[in-house]
Amino acid sequence: MSTSSSAFHTNINDVRVLPILEVKRETYTVKSIIFEDYLCSHANPGQYAMVWIPGVDEIPLSISLMGENESCRVTVKKVGDATSALHKKTIGESIGVRGPYGNHFDLVKGNVIVVGGGTGIAPIIPLIQRLFQIGSDLTLIVGYKNSNELLFYEEAMSLLRGEGKLLVTTEDGSRGFQGFPTDLLSEEISTDSFDMVYTCGPELMMKKVFEISENNGVELQASLERYIKCSIGVCGQCVLSPLGIRVCVEGPVLKSSILRELDDFGVFSRNSSGKKIHLQ
Ligand SMILES: Cc1cc2nc3c(=O)[nH]c(=O)nc-3n(C[C@H](O)[C@H](O)[C@H](O)COP(=O)(O)OP(=O)(O)OC[C@H]3O[C@@H](n4cnc5c(N)ncnc54)[C@H](O)[C@@H]3O)c2cc1C
Repeated sequence: MSTSSSAFHTNINDVRVLPILEVKRETYTVKSIIFEDYLCSHANPGQYAMVWIPGVDEIPLSISLMGENESCRVTVKKVGDATSALHKKTIGESIGVRGPYGNHFDLVKGNVIVVGGGTGIAPIIPLIQRLFQIGSDLTLIVGYKNSNELLFYEEAMSLLRGEGKLLVTTEDGSRGFQGFPTDLLSEEISTDSFDMVYTCGPELMMKKVFEISENNGVELQASLERYIKCSIGVCGQCVLSPLGIRVCVEGPVLKSSILRELDDFGVFSRNSSGKKIHLQ
């Protein structure tokens, strides 16, 4: 693996060492980091980058914007060492970037419904941008704990330009509907006819989204999160039982046909040593 700046890289496995161009606070616990990278700026919605924080770790982060002039954005919630180190980064400091990795959401032109929860809304932004571009009818449900955590709510609203339907839920009722995004999904799916459901967010939420979609005969594409180490399908850290699906290469986006076969979905994850742990 070689390391250098973005220019002239055509191999996604090369680590590009890139200056941070902008850091934006999105909510109390979430920041976005903007950099320029040719390869990641041509990613498809749902793909992720491996972001190396020198001296700390390398972690997977969804690409939350593929902008013009090779600009890219990752959006990160502070949960541990690597994410805290990223939160301390300032303009001009460098990060390493590999990727984009993984598969992506398949775009369906039709009547589609997208359900995002928490930081799972990060990969949903480029998804709704592309769905809108191909002329799909969009219903977007975004769920948050409370009104201090409204990640990308304004951005989603401006992307929909008043043409799609945007519904917001908070657990404490401080904005929109009080409850879970799945409560509104149940209502919407029983009163309208959808060609596809898309989701990204906490796995227990996505499991519920899957059950509702199955009960209503609508196909689903869900973006799963697992502890990813190598990102190239070698280490086996992110495999799902019993199919041996590697989230890093065959995922992160999995369709209903696969989700139906998985024992792990909504039940087990794996910790850093690969040991199965119950999802809570
Ligand atoms: C495909 C994919 C896309 C993701 N996109 C985003 C995103 O857009 N924004 C965001 O905030 N987070 C995202 N994550 C989760 C993010 O990678 C973890 O929060 C981060 O790695 C935690 O690192 P840490 O050192 O700060 O925390 P730790 O203290 O090391 O761990 C905190 C939690 O993160 C999990 N974790 C730690 N390292 C990894 C890793 N290498 N891969 C996956 N999980 C890990 C741990 O199991 C634990 O549950 C994504 C994960 C995957 C797999």
